[in-house]
Amino acid sequence: MKLVFERSRAGRGTQYLPENDVPRRLPKAQLREKKLHLASLPETEVDRHYTELAKQTHGVNDGFYPLGSCTMKYNPQINEEMAALPGFTKIHPLQDADTVEGCREVCDTLEKYLCEITGMDAVSLQPAAGAHGEFTGLLLIKAYHRERGDVKRTKIIVPDSAHGTNPASAAMAGFDVVSIASDDQGCVDLESLKAAVGEDTAGLMLTNPNTVGLFDPNILEITRIVHEAGGLCYYDGANLNAVMGIARPGDMGFDVIHVNLHKTFSTPHGGGGPGSGPSGCKAFLAKYLPGKGAEGSIGDVRSFGGNFLVAVKALAYILSIGREGIPAAAENAVLNANYMKEKLKDIYPLAYDRTCMHEFVICLEELKHQTDVSALDIAKAMLDHGIHPPTMYFPLIVHEALMVEPTETETKETLDEAVRIFRDIYDEAVKNPEAMHEKPLHTPVRRPDEVLAARSPVIRYAFED
Ligand SMILES: *Cc1c(COP(=O)(O)O)cnc(C)c1O
Repeated sequence: MKLVFERSRAGRGTQYLPENDVPRRLPKAQLREKKLHLASLPETEVDRHYTELAKQTHGVNDGFYPLGSCTMKYNPQINEEMAALPGFTKIHPLQDADTVEGCREVCDTLEKYLCEITGMDAVSLQPAAGAHGEFTGLLLIKAYHRERGDVKRTKIIVPDSAHGTNPASAAMAGFDVVSIASDDQGCVDLESLKAAVGEDTAGLMLTNPNTVGLFDPNILEITRIVHEAGGLCYYDGANLNAVMGIARPGDMGFDVIHVNLHKTFSTPHGGGGPGSGPSGCKAFLAKYLPGKGAEGSIGDVRSFGGNFLVAVKALAYILSIGREGIPAAAENAVLNANYMKEKLKDIYPLAYDRTCMHEFVICLEELKHQTDVSALDIAKAMLDHGIHPPTMYFPLIVHEALMVEPTETETKETLDEAVRIFRDIYDEAVKNPEAMHEKPLHTPVRRPDEVLAARSPVIRYAFED
């Protein structure tokens, strides 16, 4: 496909607006020296360019997207309609507060519902992503210990099954990370936890259900051990999809949490975003929250009230599915994951063969050993069938991992079709392993050099002048 600059021809552009006749007041040093390169295309060509680009991507509106840990559920259209209302879009953050009372009410109401769903007492909508929410929550923990003069608490305990953002956020917030092993069930090993806690423990960061899709049966014991040692408990609630409306982190003994609106609460991820990772906490930490102007606050972590229109979408979701819909969504997410797991486990070995929550993890170590077909090869083969691959090589404690999260918004027919495709791919892998290294055959881009693409991405067009 040609880039927009390659399609461009001088003088072909569409100009609806008159030339700018407002005098420029910027100092010369701040003006660009060279003319800006803008593609010059008639409107039809612009439209076709973007339509072509859209056809080359895969989103939840194109097909099945079982990307574990990411909860790629359907984003209801009503959310978009609400977020497009002029009362929400035509405001300015510096407007007088009494002229945007409705918008304030949206934020207050969403905060209230998030408190109710998570069992927390206060929420800030400022953090703009899950990892940003983690960082914010850890700063609350830091502020708490510091105010008590308990400055020797410098360590955050993180299980080895954690999402990669957990140790990264803890390090960014200035803590030392202590990694503890999981037991043979993929859950926190209580003996390792007991050995790790002490007078230097600032807190524990935990995902529950964890990254192998299992609810830790010892959760109350875990939070008790940390509290007894004087630490606080942080709940990574990026994926609340298995438990929302059913179990609450606040009742499991957690003090601080973040949730991802762009996962559980059906707002778009990535390019359809932006994201939002609200931070919540128990009352004794509430004064440290950002964006509330309280004395003792850690200060703003983002401008104004966060990604406001994302909050509108999440509130539209919560209100439209309601008190009954929230636990029903969680139950169906768990049901769909278990349904697929049971239909696949005779050929796709499970990392942990237990009733799962919203996702399950396949371990393809044996297949790799026998046929040299890797989890990556299987994932790539799915692209030819219009399925977005599951998450690969995560969590790190499972080798050749594929992490599958179907979500509640898929029909039984879609799941059955996906099961058929997963099984066909497996058969092909056993019969013709060599061919698997060539997959996918039918996508616009086949096998990019992933290391090169990540380390030296080419994201600028090389203009000649
Ligand atoms: C997605 C995710 C995060 C990070 O969220 P971002 O919005 O991508 O920063 C953190 N923890 C878990 C368990 C996640 O699944």
